[in-house]
Amino acid sequence: MKDKENHKMPDHYDVLIVGGGMVGASLAVALKPLRLNIALVDAFQPKDTQHPAYDDRAIALSYGSSLIYQGMGLWDEIKADATAIQKIHVSDRGHFGATRLSAKKEKVDALGYLVESRLLGKQLYKELKRDDHIEHIIPARVELLKHHADYLEVSLDKEGDKQTLHCQLLVAADGTNSTIRTLSGIGVQRADYQQVGIIANVSTEKSHQNQAFERFTADGPIALLPMSNNRCSLIWTQPTEKADNILALDDKSFLEQLGKAFGYRLGRFTKVGKRSSFPFALVTADKNTAERVALIGNASHTLHPVAGQGLNLALRDVAVLADLLAKYTTTNTRQLLLDYEAKREADIKTTVRYTNSLVKLFSNDFFLLGHARAGGLLAVDRIKPLRNWLTRQSMGTQYRHERLSRGLPLSTTGQQ
Ligand SMILES: Cc1cc2nc3c(=O)[nH]c(=O)nc-3n(C[C@H](O)[C@H](O)[C@H](O)COP(=O)(O)OP(=O)(O)OC[C@H]3O[C@@H](n4cnc5c(N)ncnc54)[C@H](O)[C@@H]3O)c2cc1C
Repeated sequence: MKDKENHKMPDHYDVLIVGGGMVGASLAVALKPLRLNIALVDAFQPKDTQHPAYDDRAIALSYGSSLIYQGMGLWDEIKADATAIQKIHVSDRGHFGATRLSAKKEKVDALGYLVESRLLGKQLYKELKRDDHIEHIIPARVELLKHHADYLEVSLDKEGDKQTLHCQLLVAADGTNSTIRTLSGIGVQRADYQQVGIIANVSTEKSHQNQAFERFTADGPIALLPMSNNRCSLIWTQPTEKADNILALDDKSFLEQLGKAFGYRLGRFTKVGKRSSFPFALVTADKNTAERVALIGNASHTLHPVAGQGLNLALRDVAVLADLLAKYTTTNTRQLLLDYEAKREADIKTTVRYTNSLVKLFSNDFFLLGHARAGGLLAVDRIKPLRNWLTRQSMGTQYRHERLSRGLPLSTTGQQ
């Protein structure tokens, strides 16, 4: 039973998290030690096969993200379902030059880990079920917000039934088209890349040996990430106008086209699973807070998945927000939100810029630009500070101030 003794009103929560995707559910798990009164609202049941967050996509979790889950006490379970990335090989089709990052050189167990979003969701919800301070209000959609002097009123639609909740802090983890962001009057910058990502699990003749590949082609980047049973997770970026034709190919032709675009480092492609596609856009919120509201994850920043940074960046939102809640609880949401806005600014800006420049630089096939970027890859390989920067960005270890980011559990005494 949830302890509501300290709360004057029924349905009054310290923290209301809207969105139970990977980011909202991760925040709920992270907050467990604080014993706050929390509700998690989502429009879909976690096991729903139509759930937009827990689909077939495989996610590359950086080493930094593995530390955050370790701080939550969940890493061992997630790791059991994950495949370690020992090396990352970045190359440019048709141009000389490649850069290689390796776990051995960086003296870590792995540069990152690949985990299927469905399996990550399963672990997160298993962990949440163990906690009776977190109420699940699912399926339900948030429709309206109303500010009062010392709380926020939230109106929900629960499959036709209307319900009103109150909270001290509302966390918007409701994805790219965030309703909470709109209701809070926060604008967005949106840039359509005119690209579609074709997603599938594929098998190859040779073993991937825990290597991840990032291959830049004239049509856009191809990422091939190592999975269990010697499968690879493919994200094949295509201009929007070409994607439908590729999706419509039979398996044999699809595998042949993929081989031509990616090359034969792993031999021929031999098998492809279910294919799906996502349009790619960059969507960034003008700010990450409003009165009693904090934005996290895709509600704040939706990135091109080329560099596998979206969830990794979002988990750093989670680590910072959880740390601030440990410090202030919800007694001073004004200061908490000021600190959150300030602490997230640099990381979000840098990661957006890094991802965006990778997409832009490598999506052109002008001869000279090709040589410039091949030179860039060689430079990255040879110039130590540049390599270190790329490695830190891929590993997600450049921002390690919060306890969770250092792999430590949240402090319940507010200590750093
Ligand atoms: C193909 C692909 C590959 C990717 N690969 C990587 C990778 O390798 N590494 C990486 O770090 N990132 C990767 N990403 C990015 C990553 O998937 C996202 O950053 C992450 O899923 C964002 O999660 P989220 O919880 O913020 O949003 P979402 O997953 O969109 O979840 C939002 C949730 O909010 C709920 N919701 C929405 N509106 C309402 C409402 N009004 N009321 C109630 N509930 C609501 C939805 O039901 C949903 O569950 C990839 C993305 C794609 C598309």
